[in-house]
Amino acid sequence: MSTPSHDNLVAPEDACPRCGERDADRLVWVEDDLVRCSACGAEYDPLRRAKGGGDDAQ
Ligand SMILES: [Zn+2]
Repeated sequence: MSTPSHDNLVAPEDACPRCGERDADRLVWVEDDLVRCSACGAEYDPLRRAKGGGDDAQ
């Protein structure tokens, strides 16, 4: 039974869209719906990652 020293990971779908960082310690909430990745500096909204204009219209 080996517990990883760092099991402070967010869900894969909440990971940084740019670098894939999942360490919660590096994903800092800067606003209500904005998270900043300390690893690459990207800011994104994990709650509604509708970025990139890909509205699956249909
Ligand atoms: Zn990142």
